[in-house]
Amino acid sequence: MPGSSTRLSGRQKPQDRGIRESQSAESSGETKFLVDAMLGSLARKLRAFGFDATYYRAGEDAGLLRLALREGRIILTADRSLAARAGARGIKTILLIGDSDRGRLSSLARGARAKGVSLVRGEPLCSLCGGELRIVKREEISAEVLTSVLVRHRLFFRCERCGKLYWRGSHWKRLMSLAKRLEKS
Ligand SMILES: [Zn+2]
Repeated sequence: MPGSSTRLSGRQKPQDRGIRESQSAESSGETKFLVDAMLGSLARKLRAFGFDATYYRAGEDAGLLRLALREGRIILTADRSLAARAGARGIKTILLIGDSDRGRLSSLARGARAKGVSLVRGEPLCSLCGGELRIVKREEISAEVLTSVLVRHRLFFRCERCGKLYWRGSHWKRLMSLAKRLEKS
């Protein structure tokens, strides 16, 4: 929503990019996920980390499997039977275990390692819609954010697709520390 604001924001330095660089020829861009229903907050975090993450909220398994095949996406699900069905059809699927996104991210790291899936992330994306973020000048957004935010932050970003504004606040720092869960098992 244009004009709305959030504390989540930012663009990583080049050396921070790529949790694990791809060692296979299969992926030249970001790892693409298809995130099953009930895992919407995980999908938002993955986008902020720089992954291409589509959230499948319809909850209809056949449609989810078709979409994963069509777009070459790795399914992330907490549903064992769905994971089994997808696996039987040769679709890369990682079963996520855990009650929190923190636990699910660790589970994702373990599952990716076990299945030889490279976790390649790009620049942070809009957590809401997955759109690309562009740096915007402070003057352009002064009417949209609180003065206290304007004076405390230097870099502001806007989603090119939905217009949401971002900046690097404490929430962003927490998110980036959470991204490190993907490096651990
Ligand atoms: Zn957006």
